[in-house]
Amino acid sequence: MTIFVYLAALDRLVFPEDPVAINFSIRKHCSGFLVAHHPNKNAETRYNIYVDGLADLWEARKKERKSWIPGNRRGHRLVKATREELLVSLAAHEVRHRVQSDCSPKKFSPKSANLVKDKFIKSIIRFEALVLEEDRKTYNKENKSKFFIRGRINRKEFDANVIERLIASKIHRKNAYSLREETASIIKMSAP
Ligand SMILES: [Zn+2]
Repeated sequence: MTIFVYLAALDRLVFPEDPVAINFSIRKHCSGFLVAHHPNKNAETRYNIYVDGLADLWEARKKERKSWIPGNRRGHRLVKATREELLVSLAAHEVRHRVQSDCSPKKFSPKSANLVKDKFIKSIIRFEALVLEEDRKTYNKENKSKFFIRGRINRKEFDANVIERLIASKIHRKNAYSLREETASIIKMSAP
C-alpha cells in the first residue's frame, strides 16, 4: 500500500491548499488500472486504489522499462526503474489527471512533439506515440472491449503517460525527494 503514501504526498505538493481523499476499492477497475483519479463535481475529488489484483499488476509493472535515459551517440535507451521511481511516477500520473480536470492545462498529444522545444521531452512524446500504437494493436488482437480500449487510449491517458515517463526519467538514479519541487512543476506543466 506504499502507493497510498506517494499519492498523498504528491497530491499535497501540487495542491497544498486542497488535498483530497484517497479511497481503497475492493473492485477491479474497468480498464484494469491500479489507481485512478475520479473527478466528481458534486462531491470531493478523490483517488481510488484498486486492491483486487493489485499485487499482480504491481509485479507486471516492475518488469516494465519505464525510465528513458538521454542519449549518447546511440540514442536514448529504456531502463528498468527502481521501486521508488515506479511509485513516484505512478502517483505523478494520477495527480496529473487531477491537474487535467482542476487546472485545464493544454494536454500533450503525439503532435506536441513537433511543437515542443526541449529535445528530451520531444523524444519522450515520440516514444509514447509508438507505445500507443503498439497498445492499440495488442488490445485489438486480444479482443478487448471498445469500452476498455477507450479507457486506455485517449487524450487524457496519453498526456498522463507523457508526464509519468518524464518524471520516471528525471528522477532516475537521483534522490526523488530532493527533486520534489521539479516533479510538482512537471505535473502542472502545459503542453505547447
Ligand atoms: Zn491514467
